[in-house]
Amino acid sequence: MPPALTTPPIDRRPKRLEAMRDPVVATIGLGANLGEAPATVRAAIASIGALAQTQLLCASSLYRSAPIASSGPDYVNAVVQVRTALSAPALLAELQTIELAAGRERPYRNAPRTLDLDVLLYGHAQISSRTLTVPHPRMQQRAFVLLPLSEIAPELVSAEALQAVGDQLVHREIGI
Ligand code: ATP
Ligand code: CA
Ligand code: CA
Repeated sequence: MPPALTTPPIDRRPKRLEAMRDPVVATIGLGANLGEAPATVRAAIASIGALAQTQLLCASSLYRSAPIASSGPDYVNAVVQVRTALSAPALLAELQTIELAAGRERPYRNAPRTLDLDVLLYGHAQISSRTLTVPHPRMQQRAFVLLPLSEIAPELVSAEALQAVGDQLVHREIGI
């Protein structure tokens, strides 16, 4: 006789909640060069501030930059800092949801985009996974990241780093 098949008893105990992690200061870069780019960037900053377990600490002015390794209209850029209890992958997933809601498509690398949200820094974490590299590996080469970042967190950007990208066309926009 084959052994009787038994189903394991259902565990009805409440699942242990994932321990709330200590909040971390994360730095996020924003860029847009299709559609109403200034309005999109401003709305994205509001959406980031409205994320669960996340508080907007500060936002840079909006900047304009010429596309690098890309085409299309000039970019509107900004950098924000948040305090968040989301994990880094969860934060990236939330940012991608905001990108999609703004109509982001990825037809090819560096294509013009309605909205791009990059995790630049996540506390002091060094992350290297298939889907997430932090600090953002190209941030030091980009004036459109370093200039707005130096406005809100000057301690994170050295004079040498700014000088190294000094030939890139980026300027702070008053009133956009
Ligand atoms: P770049 O990374 O050079 O700024 P991009 O922003 O145009 O290029 P995307 O097409 O927006 O590139 O993203 C491609 C993938 O990069 C994403 O699907 C994501 O998984 C991955 N990625 C890795 N590290 C990061 C990061 N720090 N922030 C955002 N996305 C990241
Ligand atoms: Ca990017
Ligand atoms: Ca991106």
